[in-house]
Amino acid sequence: MTTNAQAPQKTPSTALCEPCSGIQRHWRKAPGHAELVQGTHHREDRGNGPSSFTRYRCDRCGAAWEYENNKANQHAGWALLAL
Ligand SMILES: [Zn+2]
Repeated sequence: MTTNAQAPQKTPSTALCEPCSGIQRHWRKAPGHAELVQGTHHREDRGNGPSSFTRYRCDRCGAAWEYENNKANQHAGWALLAL
């Protein structure tokens, strides 16, 4: 592991906005919020049967979310991909 003390340490905003931080993650049918902008959509089988995945981006804080819909998995739901 190398440390470079000279590197300008840009501190990106790591805080989710209020509605984003209120999203219940990994829970089936948990609601998102009004400022999420829907992105791409695809279907995939990650071992729990076919799921559909929808990407969202928050208009307020820029967080990238993915919503998984899988009726066989109670814990498929919102996952935070990036801030
Ligand atoms: Zn947000």
